[in-house]
Amino acid sequence: GVANVVVIGGGAGGATAARYIAKDGGDRVRVTLIEPSRAYYTCFFSNLYLGGLREFDSLGHSYGTLASMGVNVVHDWAVGVDRDAKTVSLAGGASLPYDRLVISPGIDFKEGAIPGWDLSAQNAMPHAYRAGSQTELLKAQVMAMREGGTFAIIAPPNPYRCPPGPYERVSMVAHTLREINPTAKILIVDPKESYSKQALFEDGWQAHYPGMIERIGPDFGANIVSVDPAAMTIDIDGQVEQVDVCNVIPAQMAGRIVHEAGLTEGDWAPVNPADMSSRVDPNVFILGDAANQGDMPKSAFAANSQAKVCANAVLGALTGSRVFPARYSNTCWSLIDTEDGVKVGATYEPTEEKIASVDSFVSEQGESPEVRAETYRESLGWYDAITEDMFG
Ligand code: FAD
Repeated sequence: GVANVVVIGGGAGGATAARYIAKDGGDRVRVTLIEPSRAYYTCFFSNLYLGGLREFDSLGHSYGTLASMGVNVVHDWAVGVDRDAKTVSLAGGASLPYDRLVISPGIDFKEGAIPGWDLSAQNAMPHAYRAGSQTELLKAQVMAMREGGTFAIIAPPNPYRCPPGPYERVSMVAHTLREINPTAKILIVDPKESYSKQALFEDGWQAHYPGMIERIGPDFGANIVSVDPAAMTIDIDGQVEQVDVCNVIPAQMAGRIVHEAGLTEGDWAPVNPADMSSRVDPNVFILGDAANQGDMPKSAFAANSQAKVCANAVLGALTGSRVFPARYSNTCWSLIDTEDGVKVGATYEPTEEKIASVDSFVSEQGESPEVRAETYRESLGWYDAITEDMFG
């Protein structure tokens, strides 16, 4: 008979898994993708839009190609998973049976992570950490900032989606402010001692945006922070800062549906490193940010890489096709200024315990402008290739 695969979430992990399972499963597998949005706006490259280097529309991708290649795209929310009956229930009331379930819902924010902030405050203090209207709102606020005003960013604690993301954002906001508001300041309030590619970012900020960017770390109370969105203030361990734009990126956890399905241990979902199947239920696979993915960072590249391993395993189980040993890879590019691109990456293999890094690389300090421009061009090629690999 025909086997049913249901995929929850049409982002980096879910769209890739749906596409590969439908493409290679032929008429032996029926794939249904559940995704509430009609268009997916990528978080990746959204900082370049904040920097004025990318059009907003270029970040949007629709599901039409997936539908025309045979994926049944249902625009709805998955609200429950009955793992005994093997069904997924939707907000619209339907119930879908599955033989294998793939879940890639991304992140949700932990409630109460930044006292004073919740979803009702996200217009006054946007997160822009799920892309779309939030990204546009943050850009509009940067463009409208008063002369010499302060842009503040409250960075999240580890682990979170896109480790270099907040710092690439600082770079791109600085790039915009240097042009339209050169006396403006950027304040980073960071609960972490250190962060991804820190030396590269700090060198770049000093070279391109001298005197504009200040960072407060945990030594100065940046791990004890609350906000008042009505007053536009940040309280840093008793010291109150008045700011003009406040980008709050709260602590994160796996998307709610994974918790509701009983697949988490703490904030994230434990998975088998060999194939991304849940350690709790072998018929369910969890991809991307929601998974506890060992040494891999929470990135679109990682989610896409995991989705291909998962698709191979799902098809092996349902059609008897050949299953290859898992191998994962990731690269995270960041843009510091026009054509000043840096990167960090690794390849990974499964061990019993986790997805383990086997070799890694990172851009060096003091590289020539030619090398940095080449790194940036590489990232442009990557964006086009990976969005085609996800959405067709
Ligand atoms: P997502 O891509 O977020 O997809 C989840 C989807 O699931 C969403 O479309 C959502 O609507 C849907 N969903 C959620 N719950 C439900 C439900 N109950 N029912 C149905 N659907 C549901 N990564 C890189 O590789 N390179 C970069 O340069 C990069 N830059 C970034 C910059 C920023 C500013 C940010 C915020 C992130 C960046 N990332 C980057 C990280 C990347 O965006 C994420 O890691 C990636 O999107 C994770 O994929 P995912 O499939 O886990 O989740």
